[in-house]
Parts: sequence; structure tokens; C-alpha cells
Amino acid sequence: MKTHAIRPGTLDQTDRPLTCTAEQALRGSELPGRWARRERFVWLATGFGRGEQFLAAWQVWKADPLRCERLVFIAIEDRPLSRSELAQAGAPDLARQLHAAWPPLTHNLHRLSFEQGRVQLLLAFGEVAPWLAELVASVDAFVLAEAGGRDRYRLKSLAKLAAPGATLVMPGRNDALLTQAGFELRHNDGLTMARYQPRFIAQRPAARTPVAPGARQAVVLGAGLAGCAAAWALAEQGLEVRMFDQGAAIAQAGSGNAVGLFHGTLNPDDGLHARFNRAAALELRRILPALPLPWRIDGLLRTESTRDLAQMQALLADLGLPADYVQALDARQAGAHSGLPHQGPAWYYPGGGALSPPSLARAFVEAAPAGRVRFCSGQAIRQLRRAGDGWQLLDEDGRVLAETPLLVISTGTGSLNLLQTQGWPLRLQRGQITHLPTSTPGLRMPSIPVAGTGYVVTDQAGDVWCGATAQDHDLDPSLRETDHEHNIAQLMRLSNAEIEVVQLNLLQGRVGWRVIAEDRLPLVGALPDLAALEARRDQPRFIARQPGLLVATGMASRGITWAALSGQVLASLATGAPCPVEASLLDAIDPARFDARRARGQAA
Ligand SMILES: Cc1cc2nc3c(=O)[nH]c(=O)nc-3n(C[C@H](O)[C@H](O)[C@H](O)COP(=O)(O)OP(=O)(O)OC[C@H]3O[C@@H](n4cnc5c(N)ncnc54)[C@H](O)[C@@H]3O)c2cc1C
Repeated sequence: MKTHAIRPGTLDQTDRPLTCTAEQALRGSELPGRWARRERFVWLATGFGRGEQFLAAWQVWKADPLRCERLVFIAIEDRPLSRSELAQAGAPDLARQLHAAWPPLTHNLHRLSFEQGRVQLLLAFGEVAPWLAELVASVDAFVLAEAGGRDRYRLKSLAKLAAPGATLVMPGRNDALLTQAGFELRHNDGLTMARYQPRFIAQRPAARTPVAPGARQAVVLGAGLAGCAAAWALAEQGLEVRMFDQGAAIAQAGSGNAVGLFHGTLNPDDGLHARFNRAAALELRRILPALPLPWRIDGLLRTESTRDLAQMQALLADLGLPADYVQALDARQAGAHSGLPHQGPAWYYPGGGALSPPSLARAFVEAAPAGRVRFCSGQAIRQLRRAGDGWQLLDEDGRVLAETPLLVISTGTGSLNLLQTQGWPLRLQRGQITHLPTSTPGLRMPSIPVAGTGYVVTDQAGDVWCGATAQDHDLDPSLRETDHEHNIAQLMRLSNAEIEVVQLNLLQGRVGWRVIAEDRLPLVGALPDLAALEARRDQPRFIARQPGLLVATGMASRGITWAALSGQVLASLATGAPCPVEASLLDAIDPARFDARRARGQAA
């Protein structure tokens, strides 16, 4: 999908395609009756406007004692209102919550969560047709704006998204094409109402089938950022989660640094990497205010070394990225944010910042609906064994410590041993960070984190950390003076300061390891079933999966930014809930992508 700038809409509705009223939409979708006692109900609307349909559906859901457990409302909006223009429609309390959660206008799928995750709004900003082709969901009710039903391409996409018996409501008529797409029609008051009842239902690609649709329990193996976020997201979907770790507490390994940075990125071609980073950064930014975090810094600067300010501004205009996502600043403006003297321009990410990774990991667990995540410490797992459609976890002596219908492997560096048979191109990279007491001569304290070549940030106690080194395949756990020297040299360049450290051997720091995939994207998804014989293996989505087995690893140097979105993706793959990222991003982080590449290579 080609990224484009999102043009904000206006409150003047005259240029909008005709759509149903909220009342017509609910009636045509046979609601609230049709969602009664269901686990999940998914609504897809082309057009969002001021959110009238969403707010009405939410209000009816709230008042209905027989409501479904979870309501997911997907809306595709080409011209979303800016937050300031988003009028207060519907019930004031709900409209206020929507207003507060309204995202930056970027070409993304934005997941807004209400009612402790039981009501979710997936806002897809951009044109309808490309988004319909990119959504991964099973939709129970379509509510289309008039233009939505006009062309065959869209209707074919609708049929791919439709759950059996899905309803469709739209103003006007488009009988021939709807019938062709498998909908049975009736008309009323100028509205088309239809039900998806095709003669045959095309099979979904293997990787688009949930891996544990009926599971009520899950085990997450590994309690770092990736595991804790997965546990939180699964608990939001109603699962009881046990989280096993060999350590005595949460986030003691890769995720154990005192402080770390989070932020999006930007790139002239807005490729998969930049898009995933942006989607993940926006997800984290949305959930952070509700997480029980003791401390965080908002705002982050990335220095720019190759472009001047005019070139940076031109790039922003070209990508159409709004100021509440990223801004181009000159040296003086950058200095006003960081408190450091800057010599060149910098990118400012208002939604980026710094936090303590262990606090974030614990906050995921605490934010999970009451009691649904249980941490089991001191459980070193040496082997996984398939048992029917579930999995057993075995210790060193071959004892079965747990059995589960759904297992998430998020063991960081430990993933390499547990999953070695997969042959994925992952590498371990050692990294050392350096702690500098505030009394260090020449040290300048940044008010927000500054990154460039290296980074500098203060922690909750106000001390400075700088880093980090990057040494592939280096397993040395000891702090090295040469690495401190390297980090301090980077810090001096970043902060334009002469820093004097007399005794490097007395400095504190921390050593950890990053798990990095060859393409520098994480591995988030279901494990391929390499023994299965499918007709096609050239795209990840066609590769069959092992039941009940998911992985989240390869978090590289971005675990803070990536964990929350990765967890949400896993939860959707497990349960069949609509996916919070588009199909092309899902394929890009799919662990089976390496097998697909191999298959394409062999075919060539
Ligand atoms: C020096 C350095 C600086 C960094 N700075 C940043 C930063 O500023 N921002 C950022 O976003 N990221 C940063 N990172 C990267 C970040 O730390 C990682 O991306 C993240 O911590 C990975 O989380 P994880 O959950 O995948 O792995 P981990 O946190 O390592 O969690 C894996 C867990 O699995 C457990 N485990 C492993 N094997 C087993 C087993 N067999 N049985 C039971 N339990 C097991 C481990 O005990 C561990 O708790 C940095 C990394 C380094 C090294």
C-alpha cells in the first residue's frame, strides 16, 4: 500500500459520500439482537465522520445486558477530522473519551481501546479500496457509505472479509455487483440491506486462520517486554495467562536496563520498516497514559547529520507526516527542547520518550484485566513438546511443568536455543551502556533523550545513561572500559561537552544482548508447520502453521516501542480478532517470511 498524506476533513459534510444514519446502520445490521451473548462482534464502516455510528453502537452495547463480550468497530476514513474539529457527537461521556484518544492523522491503522479493551475502534486513515484489501478481519456487519459499493474491486474485498451471514447496509443500490459477490439483497426506504450467503465460501489462506480460536488459557514463556505485552493483550481478549520465566522476577534479562528510549522513525520511501516503527510507536503512545508507570519522559530528539532543515521539511511534506508525530527543528529549537547545545537540525518526536523497561513490563501485567496474568518465576524450560493440538513445557529433567492449548515463545536470546530447528537468520548482539553520576565533570544533562550516533538519557533518579555499543556474536558479560570510553566519546559529540572521567574502571553500566533478524524487523506470528505440504509457499500467508504456537522475538534495539503492538498482533492471531496491522505489515513481521523467501529463491 502506497503511503500518502492524510488530508484532514472538515465539519462541512457536503463533500462526503452519503451514508446511513446511526439508527439505520444499527437496524440494518440487526443490532443489538445479533451480537447477543457472542464472544465478539465486528463492524466495518466506510467513513467515520464525527463518529456518530461508532458512538451509537458503543452506547447501545453499553446498555445491553446481552451484549457481546467484545465489540470491534473498524472504520476507513479518507478525510478524518483533526482532533480539534472532531465534534462532540453522541453521548457526551463517550464522545469525550473518543476525543481524548483521537490519533495523529497518519496513514495507519490506529487501534483505540475503550472499556478495558472490550470496545475497540480500528481507524484506517486513507482511501477505502486499498484499505479493504489490506485489512485482516472477519466482519459481521458492513455499513457502507454510498461510494463504497460502486466497484467490483471493493466488493471482492468485502467478500474476503465477510464472516458467514454478515450483513451489509448502504444507501442506494448496486444489486448486480452485490449479488455477484455473494450477498442476498433486500431494499427498504432507499437503503440496500444484504446478507452474505455465497454458494461456496473460499478458504482463507492458511496463515489467516486463528491458531487457538477456542482457547481460554495460554502460557507465555519469557517475561521480558515481549512476553509481558503478549500476556496483557491475550488477557484483554479474555484468556487466563500463566507467564513462565527462569528468572526470579519480571524483566531481568534483555529488558532489565534502568532506562530505554522509544520513538517512531521516518524514511523517504516509507518502507515496511518505517511503517512498522510508526504503527508501533503510535500504539505505545496511545496506551502509555493508561499504564501504571511510575515515571516516563515525553518527547525525544534524533539528530540529523545528512539533511539541512529545508530538506527535512521537504521530506516531511512529501511523506505527509503531521507535527504531532514528528517535527523538523533547527539547532536552536532542538536545544530549547533538550537543554543541550546542538550544532545541527534534529527530528523531534513528541510521542517518543524514555521509560524504565522493567516498569513497562510490570505495567503490562498490572494493566491486564484483574487476575488474568499469573507470573511463575524460576521455571527454566528446556524443551517444548506437541501434545494433540496443544503444547507441553518440559524442564531439564524432562518433567512436564505445564500443558497449554496456546503457547507464546518470547524468550529473547533463549529463543535461539528453543527454536533452533527453524533456521531463522537471527543474530545475538552484545550491547553495553554506561552510567554517569551527575557529579561527572563536564557532564550536561539532557531534559529529554537525545539520539543520533549513540544516545543520552536521564533515568528516574536523574542520573545519566549513555550508549550503546554493538558487538555481534560477542558473549562477554563483563563491563569493559573500552566500551565505556566508546559510549562517552559518543556522548561528548551528542552533547557538545568535554567530559572527564578519570577512572573508567569505577563506572557502572550494564551489558545485555539484542536479538536481531537479518531484515531488522521482529518475528511476531505463528510458527510455520514445515512438514505441511501446501501448494504455495511463496508468500507467508499461504504457509501452514502449527496449532497453538506463537512467537515474539527479534526485538532488536526496539523492544520498548515494538512490544505492545507485537502483543496485540499475537492476540489477534490466536483468537481471530481483527488484526491491528495491515496485511503487508503482518507478512513483514511473520516468522514464516524467511521460508517464503527461500521458496521464492528456489523457484527462481
Ligand atoms: C545495551 C542495550 C540497550 C538497549 N536500549 C534500548 C532502548 O533504548 N530502547 C529499546 O526499545 N530497546 C533497547 N534495547 C533492546 C531491548 O532491550 C530489547 O529489544 C528487549 O528487551 C527484548 O525483550 P524480550 O522480551 O524479547 O527479551 P528479554 O527481555 O530478554 O526477555 C526474555 C525472557 O525470557 C526468559 N527466558 C529465556 N529463555 C528461557 C527459558 N528457556 N525458560 C524460561 N525463561 C526463559 C529470560 O529469563 C527473559 O526474562 C537495548 C538493548 C541493549 C542490549
